[in-house]
Amino acid sequence: MTHARLTVLVGPSGVGKGTVVSALKERHPELVVSVSATTRDPRPGEEHGVNYLFITEEEFDELLRNDGLLEWAQVFGGNRYGTPRGPVEEHLAAGRPVLLEIDLEGARQVRLAMPEAQLVFLAPPSWEELERRLIGRGTETPEQQQRRLTTARTELAAQAEFDTTVVNDDVERAAMELAALMGLK
Ligand code: ADP
Ligand code: 5GP
Repeated sequence: MTHARLTVLVGPSGVGKGTVVSALKERHPELVVSVSATTRDPRPGEEHGVNYLFITEEEFDELLRNDGLLEWAQVFGGNRYGTPRGPVEEHLAAGRPVLLEIDLEGARQVRLAMPEAQLVFLAPPSWEELERRLIGRGTETPEQQQRRLTTARTELAAQAEFDTTVVNDDVERAAMELAALMGLK
């Protein structure tokens, strides 16, 4: 069995990462999307082990001590998020392509740890459309939205570090482009 490739998807909050990845999973149930660990509280409807592993600060420290995370970052100045190393390595070794949906700092760590990983940036069709989507989603307070938009400027400025940019103009089209990049048939 050949060792499959790791793909990292990064994009500003509200660009549609979750939406595009759901569309991709629907077409390709064989795709493994890594479940991150986070210290943030679940939002209504989110499930432990499905959306995230919701863990305490102490449990996160323990994972770090045991080298249990492939990468991690403190996102939007608050909670910590990280990718559990074991499942990613096991799926790749078994020949299953794995997708990580993480932030820019995490992507930079993956590039150093696994130079063979493919880094894909998901970009909005325009800045105005990004604002519309983030605000329209309505899951953050106006202060949190502003913080995410400030971070978005940094993320958009880092696009050149990525192997490829996919524009999320249309969910199905963007999902198909991502599937092709990952070699999913
Ligand atoms: P992210 O995971 O990147 O933070 P979401 O997947 O939550 O973003 O999407 C943010 C909002 O934008 C949601 O309301 C979603 O329905 C909407 N959205 C996502 N992709 C598109 C698209 N291609 N066209 C229009 N709206 C979109
Ligand atoms: P949210 O709280 O909206 O689910 O996610 C906030 C941010 O955390 C998003 O930009 C997302 O990409 C990032 N994120 C989620 N999981 C991870 C992870 O495992 N590692 C890193 N570095 N960032 C993550």
